[in-house]
Amino acid sequence: MNILITGAAGFIGSHLTRTVLGPGKPLGADVRVTVLDALTYAGDRANLAAVEDEPGFSFVHGDITDAALVDRLVAGHDAVVHLAAESHVDRSIAHADAFVRTNVLGTQTLLEAALRHGTGPFVHVSTDEVYGSVPTGSSKETDPLAPNSPYAASKAASDLLALSYHRTHGLDVRVTRCSNNYGPHQYPEKIIPLFVTRLLAGGTVPLYGDGENVRDWLHVDDHCQGLLAVLTGGREGETYNIGGGSELTNKELTGLLLEACGAGWERVEHVTDRKGHDRRYSVDWTKIRDELGYRPRHDFAGGLADTVAWYKAHRPAPGAELPGT
Ligand code: NAD
Repeated sequence: MNILITGAAGFIGSHLTRTVLGPGKPLGADVRVTVLDALTYAGDRANLAAVEDEPGFSFVHGDITDAALVDRLVAGHDAVVHLAAESHVDRSIAHADAFVRTNVLGTQTLLEAALRHGTGPFVHVSTDEVYGSVPTGSSKETDPLAPNSPYAASKAASDLLALSYHRTHGLDVRVTRCSNNYGPHQYPEKIIPLFVTRLLAGGTVPLYGDGENVRDWLHVDDHCQGLLAVLTGGREGETYNIGGGSELTNKELTGLLLEACGAGWERVEHVTDRKGHDRRYSVDWTKIRDELGYRPRHDFAGGLADTVAWYKAHRPAPGAELPGT
């Protein structure tokens, strides 16, 4: 199988690529992976160092909105796993244009090329944020989309475009919607790597509003196992929620991160809440469990301890600039 993975110099895509080409080769010994990544601030080729020398690996530095490049690349592949995106909500609040360009136009560019060359499955990797805030219960795949941030709106637009290419043209598209991921190699702007790197460097951490916003935390490895299940066994035109981690308020998560880094609550700065901050996300993941046998394997306490240990071993050199919020 020849797979094109977009955005794989980033957090989740690099984990997926290391999994596919790593020991055990879950998709078979003859699998080949081409990574297409623009190496934005969030992409780092070092995230792929472990597989750079694998015979099945190749890296293309390029943009998913570059139609000629995308057309040429998609042509030689049997499947696409599409992760490239602008992914940070705070950045989308400040500057939404890049989110529309990459997440909407970039996805459409890839879909068009896949359609032209009959390339599928096309796994479109999306997020639980497209459902909007859910005060109680858990979002099902059939629930209406109600995104609130420009990030979530751009992802919802790309989900609908992807599904439209199935319904209109019959392209083998499969959409996944996952909860918040954590693990090593995440750019330190999202809450877990931001807080850990700041605490380890002796700094303070910013906690939004009352800290009662709830997120479901899933280890990146469990997300990737879910993606592989959808790639190999999912049904065309279907959407699969991927969740089942641990629901925590940001305040509870902060307490765990302080403890893991040996710091106290005096290191927490209470800052004005994020604009339009969704109160709670939660996905119902019974569909992927019942159809594809997916189950998360990492318990949160162990996964978080491993993640903190990874940041301790890879922390920026003393004096390096602290990441911004
Ligand atoms: P990330 O920000 O770590 O990585 C994104 C990657 O995409 C980077 O390597 C970047 O260089 C690349 N990229 C950005 N714009 C590009 C462009 N125009 N052309 C080519 N490459 C480009 O993101 P992530 O956290 O790994 O998320 C990957 C995907 O998973 C995204 O689609 C995101 O919406 C989705 N997702 C993320 C989470 C999470 O908790 N991180 C949860 C659910 C879904």
